[in-house]
Amino acid sequence: MDKILRIDMGAANGPEVKETGLGEYAGMGGRAMTSSVVSKEVPPLCHALGAENKLVIAPGLLSGTTGAMSGRISVGCKSPLTGTIKESNAGGQAAQVLARLGYAAIILEGKPANDDLYKVFIDKDGVKISVDNGLKGLGNYKTVEKMKEEFGEKISCISIGQAGEMKLAAASVACTDPELRPTRHAGRGGTGAVMGAKGVKVIVLDDTGMKMRVPKDPEGYKDANKRFVEGLRNHAVTGQGLPAYGTNVLTNVINEAGGYPTYNFKQGRFDGAAKISGETQAETEKARGGVATHGCHRGCVIRCSGIYNDKDGNYLTKQPEYETVWAHGGNCGIDDLDSIAMLDFLDDDIGLDTIEMGATIGVAMDAGLARFGDAQAAIDLLKEVAKGSELGRILGSGAAVTGKVFGVERVPVVKGQALPAYDPRAVQGIGVTYATSTMGADHTAGYAVATNILKVGGDVDPLKPEGQIELSRNLQIATAAIDSTGMCLFIAFALLDQPDTFQALLDMLNSFHGLNMTADDVTELGKKILKTERDFNAEAGFTSKHDRLPRFFTNDALAPHNVTFTVKDEELDRVFNW
Ligand code: SF4
Repeated sequence: MDKILRIDMGAANGPEVKETGLGEYAGMGGRAMTSSVVSKEVPPLCHALGAENKLVIAPGLLSGTTGAMSGRISVGCKSPLTGTIKESNAGGQAAQVLARLGYAAIILEGKPANDDLYKVFIDKDGVKISVDNGLKGLGNYKTVEKMKEEFGEKISCISIGQAGEMKLAAASVACTDPELRPTRHAGRGGTGAVMGAKGVKVIVLDDTGMKMRVPKDPEGYKDANKRFVEGLRNHAVTGQGLPAYGTNVLTNVINEAGGYPTYNFKQGRFDGAAKISGETQAETEKARGGVATHGCHRGCVIRCSGIYNDKDGNYLTKQPEYETVWAHGGNCGIDDLDSIAMLDFLDDDIGLDTIEMGATIGVAMDAGLARFGDAQAAIDLLKEVAKGSELGRILGSGAAVTGKVFGVERVPVVKGQALPAYDPRAVQGIGVTYATSTMGADHTAGYAVATNILKVGGDVDPLKPEGQIELSRNLQIATAAIDSTGMCLFIAFALLDQPDTFQALLDMLNSFHGLNMTADDVTELGKKILKTERDFNAEAGFTSKHDRLPRFFTNDALAPHNVTFTVKDEELDRVFNW
């Protein structure tokens, strides 16, 4: 991983490829890489769909190695949804393959003068870019099938669906899983729209002939990885809950806690929760010959994913995540797993963020476009996006735009990005993260649910404001650092509770790269990344006044606890004062 691939899509004679050394980006991976490049090279006031924006795709520091869990890929840019800096990360095989091909980042720059659509093929012999207008209008699944026909089965793909081609602000970037299905998405913030603006439909990676990356201290790395894996297997969340039921194990838990946003954030409990819970989902998958425990990339030992088959036992989609099941389920009053799975498939195929689309359809239902609980109407609305109808383009632009167009007051967004599956009134720590994250509302930016509800890493009362600022701050710092390693964030459950597992991760980083990083260095790295992102946002016009939740969270009490969000504004302004 000693080079950066830059592709200028706006060069006068067609796309121009340049390979450079790492230069000032040496030692960076994942989110540290994407946020540093965007911060240094993208004018904060540029238009997100313009030539000045860049799409940065970066594997993590340990991607492409024998290390467990190291397969996340970061996608960064200025976001067309929020106007802030954006890092969105995904699983799948792409990070491992890209790292083995030797690239610490691919940077798409410029903008083509015409509307040709390009595919990029990268293998050990170099980079080939060609026009392929036959891919126009295809979903991610058909796009990947075409790439398999052309390049064989030993590839990984990074692609966009129709939403990305239309440059819609809820468009995602899809990565293929080990079975070459485009199911793992850098969903948040409209990264797919930026890829579409660059005229790139798909990047195909083939690492045939390339070897695993070799650590500086192979024995030390092997030993640290062994301890790390043992730690993950020993923790109840990473060793039992997630493998058995996936992230959807949370439906019953969050519903019980009264923090499950239902009917577009009207109430905190959903009567139909048991019908769409992780337990029901896993039973359904097994009964239909699907898979309830599956890794989204090779080397994942938690394996929170799965395969969801339809009633006839045919593949329908990957196991929908908790946030997807919530977004298209309880938030829209839908309690039918098959319909939710169909909505998940459509999101993946069209290339849309499931959280943004679930929230958007919830807002549309509030506006009267469909009845809460009407699953077929939700499916029809999503299909409008693929068609590119006027309604579809509005919906594909996200919850904030949809709320404005249809005159809805209760629109659950921060900095234009939809809130995920935890109501901040009943889980106040995650409300602090939603309000203050550099990314817009994002549960993964500082997952306070862990300590508020799951009692991992301590115990902070979810219904009270006390302790939430410190909790969110520390988690945001740690997350920024973990997002730079290329490790799946779910390792954090074991890291927060088990100092030995945290030390094992540090030992992996040190033995691989020949470093002497301490826990304090990790904290400093997280702070540095957050500062870089905050500075970009400030230059883009964001102030503390944007670090707020919509007013209805402080004005309208949420049943069953009848609570409002009570963390004060001046407290929110303390999050980044360290
Ligand atoms: S734990 Fe889940 S999301 Fe994380 S790498 Fe494994 S399968 Fe992917």
